[in-house]
Amino acid sequence: MLIETPCYCHAMSDETVTRFAPSPTGLLHLGHAFSALFAARNGDRLLLRMEDIDGGRCRAEFEDAIHEDLNWLGLEWEQPVRRQSEHMDDYSAALGQLDGIGLLYPCFCTRKEIATEIAAAAHAPHPNDGPDGPLYPGICQNLSADERTQRKDNGEAFALRLNMKKALTQITAPLHWHDREAGKTTATPEIFGDVVLARKDTPTSYHLAVTVDDALQGVTLVTRGLDLMPSSHVHRLLQELLGLPTPKYHHHRLLTSDAGQRLAKRDKSLTLRALRQAGKSPDEVRKMAGIDSP
Ligand code: GLU
Repeated sequence: MLIETPCYCHAMSDETVTRFAPSPTGLLHLGHAFSALFAARNGDRLLLRMEDIDGGRCRAEFEDAIHEDLNWLGLEWEQPVRRQSEHMDDYSAALGQLDGIGLLYPCFCTRKEIATEIAAAAHAPHPNDGPDGPLYPGICQNLSADERTQRKDNGEAFALRLNMKKALTQITAPLHWHDREAGKTTATPEIFGDVVLARKDTPTSYHLAVTVDDALQGVTLVTRGLDLMPSSHVHRLLQELLGLPTPKYHHHRLLTSDAGQRLAKRDKSLTLRALRQAGKSPDEVRKMAGIDSP
């Protein structure tokens, strides 16, 4: 079990604890407003988490803007706000647990090496595609212990991957989660192959940090967009491997533009700041997002 940090107040048995977990890599748009309001509407307690592990893309000004926009929308959340960049020790403890049972291996591959290997195998009748694209072809899986040590000693950068096959041997019964929309859902984490749990540029990954944080923050209902539903397959496996509780899930629909396209951070006219500057009121924006009350 991971060490529980005392600063988060865990849910009373009947309380629903939700969270909104944006990455401060740009301004929030109407889709984020929907997601945040959705979390608030479905929970008794709302937590806020800054998913800022990507040092190159995250900026303090976007973090400030997130606070400003959510306040303006009329949302209230509990303190402390968890900033992932301040909790690398928690992720490292989780990696230590997985490594301790031999489920991780270092991967020195560059994107180019992986692409070349995949292209070479492209004549295979069923290319191995996962939710994030072609699966890692396992190049570094069978490096000898000596070679791993030597390459690390040479200062080669490496990621840590989960040996998915081996991880699945630890699981004795089928994994499920309860989705408020989709009902009982069977987890099939193998669709991701040997997923990266610590990146070359930062000693964690989205999958690992989210799973550890939801547990440490006592989240009982994970609400997020349907685009992230595939990730829940990996998160469910990680919960099991790390001995963490399984929250319930509610993957919600995604807002689209008039042209039917998913909203993205680049749609400048639909950022909450732009809407505010154009004279919209919080009420009007909540209506545009389709959720009336804060
Ligand atoms: N940080 C993710 C995002 O901004 C959300 C992660 C999650 O809710 O699990 O899309």
